[in-house]
Amino acid sequence: MTTVGILGGGQLARMIALGGAPLGLRFLVLDSVEDACAGQFAPLLLGDYRDENALAQFSSEVDVATFDFENVPAESAEWLTQFVPVFPNPRALATAQDRLAEKTLFKELGIPVPAFEDITSRADLEAAVEKLGAPCILKTRRLGYDGKGQFRIRDNSPASIEAAWDALGEQAFSTGLILEAFVHFDRELSVVAVRGRNGEFQTWPLTENWHVDGVLSASLAPARVDDALAARAHAYAKSLVEALDYVGVCALELFCKDGELMANELAPRVHNSGHWTIEGSETSQFENHLRAVLGMPLGSTRMLGHACMLNWIGEMPDPTPVLRDACGHWHDYGKQPRAGRKVGHATLRADTPEELSRALERVGGELARKAQVSPVIHALSN
Ligand code: ATP
Ligand code: MG
Ligand code: MG
Repeated sequence: MTTVGILGGGQLARMIALGGAPLGLRFLVLDSVEDACAGQFAPLLLGDYRDENALAQFSSEVDVATFDFENVPAESAEWLTQFVPVFPNPRALATAQDRLAEKTLFKELGIPVPAFEDITSRADLEAAVEKLGAPCILKTRRLGYDGKGQFRIRDNSPASIEAAWDALGEQAFSTGLILEAFVHFDRELSVVAVRGRNGEFQTWPLTENWHVDGVLSASLAPARVDDALAARAHAYAKSLVEALDYVGVCALELFCKDGELMANELAPRVHNSGHWTIEGSETSQFENHLRAVLGMPLGSTRMLGHACMLNWIGEMPDPTPVLRDACGHWHDYGKQPRAGRKVGHATLRADTPEELSRALERVGGELARKAQVSPVIHALSN
């Protein structure tokens, strides 16, 4: 029996394990937290992925290793390659972990990006705000997720620059910093893609995403975009994964403004905006990630109708309205409630956009989630 090792034991590892069960796979999850939610479905090895002893034990028990978290140190991934195949490869992981390296690669490949500047000092920041103009966003180069490690600079006054430096300046030499121009996008899109060990490449239909305070709130697939734009987005993802010799599922996050695309970031793992693929496509992102890292043929990424995923942040709502809806699918990650934490999601899937829209009205109304579902309903009506 093949054992897949996963570094990180959050909801992504949990859904990878659930997705791999029908394939007859076993899993081992390495996490330093005893109540890591993937541990409810897969054996958990308690340990730190920075510790060689923990990594050695992990590698002795698995046939292949992958990640549920992009902030596993690339050095740990590199170290593991002495003993087991690791996918995606550590170089791809290292590139996607660092906003500066990632954006530099986007540019090299001809993928448009918001203007950005490397920031190593307060003087750099002042000069960069002057150059890029306000508003702009100061971000840590590494270790950010769910909008953490970001500070929005509203204007180029000394007070605004001071506030940004107070918030993040001391990280200039730990995580590094980058300043990005603020994009007044019309919408956000993502390409969830998969590449096999033999270079086979597939994408799911483009997904449209809505964020609240930097955290994904809702996703709609397929996105309401024309074929040419979708083809361009898919081509960007293909050139990226080929440049990185990437194996597994990844997501390319994009801003769309006036019909133009700009890349925001590459997530080197299964992605929240691909959760709808569990019920909404022939093969889920989780199963295809496993097929890819194990060198199996990839499954079809064909959509089954139209899907909307709603994220539950902080605490789970009452499941009843979703459970009794013919379009409804419920996912509870078995986590303790905590402000800002992703604790579960629901996917509504229907044969037509109209039917999906009605399901969103019903469920959104019953759960008092009008603000969360309204932008999706609006997109479906256009
Ligand atoms: P995650 O990895 O969880 O997606 P993150 O912490 O890496 O998030 P980003 O993806 O960089 O953060 O930013 C989170 C959200 O903040 C984006 O999806 C977008 O809504 C907004 N945002 C980020 N950068 C910009 C920008 N340059 N212009 C406008 N909005 C932005
Ligand atoms: Mg990110
Ligand atoms: Mg992001």
